[in-house]
Amino acid sequence: KALFLDRTAADLKARALLMKAPILARLDPLDVEAIDAFCKRTGIDSETRITVILPSGQVVGDSYEDPERMDPHLDRPEVLDAFQGGSGVSVRTSRTLGNKLIYVALPISLGGSTAAVIRASIPISIVDEAIRTVQMRVALAGLAIALLAGILSAGVARGIAHPLSQLKDWAESVARGRVHSRPPPTRSKEIAGLSDAMSRMASELQDRVETVLRQRNEMEAVLTSMVEGVVAVDREGRILRMNPAASGIFGCAATKVEGRSIHEAIRNTEFQNFVFKTLSGESPVEGEIAVSSEGGRVLYAHGTLLRDPKGSLLGALLVVNDVTQLRRLEGIRREFVANVSHEIRTPLTAIKAAVETLEQGSARDNEGRGRFLGIVSKHVDRLEAIIEDLLRLSSIEQDEEERKIRLVAERLRPRLETAIEVCNTLAEQKGIRVELQCPEELAANINAPLLEQAVVNLLDNAVKYSEGGGTVHVRAAVQGGEIVVDVRDQGPGITKEHLPRLFERFYRVDKARSRKLGGTGLGLAIVKHVVQAHGGRMKVKSAPGEGSTFSIHLPLP
Ligand code: ADP
Repeated sequence: KALFLDRTAADLKARALLMKAPILARLDPLDVEAIDAFCKRTGIDSETRITVILPSGQVVGDSYEDPERMDPHLDRPEVLDAFQGGSGVSVRTSRTLGNKLIYVALPISLGGSTAAVIRASIPISIVDEAIRTVQMRVALAGLAIALLAGILSAGVARGIAHPLSQLKDWAESVARGRVHSRPPPTRSKEIAGLSDAMSRMASELQDRVETVLRQRNEMEAVLTSMVEGVVAVDREGRILRMNPAASGIFGCAATKVEGRSIHEAIRNTEFQNFVFKTLSGESPVEGEIAVSSEGGRVLYAHGTLLRDPKGSLLGALLVVNDVTQLRRLEGIRREFVANVSHEIRTPLTAIKAAVETLEQGSARDNEGRGRFLGIVSKHVDRLEAIIEDLLRLSSIEQDEEERKIRLVAERLRPRLETAIEVCNTLAEQKGIRVELQCPEELAANINAPLLEQAVVNLLDNAVKYSEGGGTVHVRAAVQGGEIVVDVRDQGPGITKEHLPRLFERFYRVDKARSRKLGGTGLGLAIVKHVVQAHGGRMKVKSAPGEGSTFSIHLPLP
């Protein structure tokens, strides 16, 4: 507005300047009427109020009023300014007209002194109107620009927002697992760049996830297929992982115990102590742990500290082996060696004593020497029998292991007859009859020499342990989907507690009696192995005073 006022003032000044000359012409000599007429005419033409004031303050011309009725104008500030030599400008309410005007006054000089002041003014309302018009135009233009800008930016925004929202949808679908989909096509170069980068990022992430998954699956597979039990615990002894073998060994479900403390999960004090010993120490710990449940199993455990790549302690890893079977086999082997030594020592001692006696010449006569030589010979036979049985047993075992025992479908009867013939001499000596009952055509897959050996051993026992007299029945038949060969005697029978162990090597019910009868304690062990090599099994039924029945069960051919 100030700018407008300045402009208007300058404009008024220019008009006043223009009128200076015509008014000057009418000032000397002073022609009041002409001045007033000029003011009225020019004022109406130029829509400007023009007033001419003499130094006395008297108004001699005015565009709108009758100068005669106007009061002296010397007190008007612009007029005062003009009389003092400059040009006066003021904005105020006209006392004459009563509305707000802008005034510009200029002095008119005549002969060196100010002869009059010419004042031009227009109502400020015109200025205001002009301002309002300008303001209106500015506002309209602003509005138009705003509208245009709005439309433009909406267009641009649509051009960006639509592909962006498509990209967002695609990103969400990737997050949901559709990792191999392509990002939506777009015309915008920037968004295409962004979507390319996102697509690369998605596929890279997918690669990493796949790698991690593969590694986890591999580890899982390794842990699952391990025979050794693996238990990982954290520093406080809480279970982190447990593989199926470990949960089998300790009898707890792996998924249920994860996160639980070792005290709760594995109720074995020895193992718990072992875990904490591992956690507290620097060096690996190993040792045997007895598990009292399930018939006293023995575990061999190995504990190491678990550290992350930076070396800080994560917990401990325990690897557990079930060595029950190993320890049992070791025990059997020890026992076997002790048994063999013991069996051999008895005849050796006897032989040694007899030989020493002979050397010392204590037996002077032939008869005495013959007696001692007889003792030597008897014990040598015994040693021979033991060694023969041992060799036979080990060769059967080995052949069985190497699957070298060939089975052929053959009729059973001739084999049983041969076996009976072998034992007949002894049976006849003891007055025992052996009766055979076997269908002519009954056949089985057998290794003839081995099966004969087994039946001979059973018959030999039946005859050997019977008191004399009576009958031994050998019967072969198909029974319950199997071929069963029974050897039944009427001997003393065996008490129940011995039955489960009869087939062990060197196991005898009555040691002295067995030895006296020339037994090695290996006969039934050989039978058992032969039958196993045939894919069959042994059964025994016996009670004191009721005789014994040993049965060979073979699969049907
Ligand atoms: P041995 O060489 O001592 O006979 P075996 O292995 O053949 O060894 O038999 C083991 C033990 O089983 C024998 O010592 C004997 O006590 C008992 N035994 C085997 N067969 C019979 C039977 N038919 N009647 C009674 N006892 C038997």
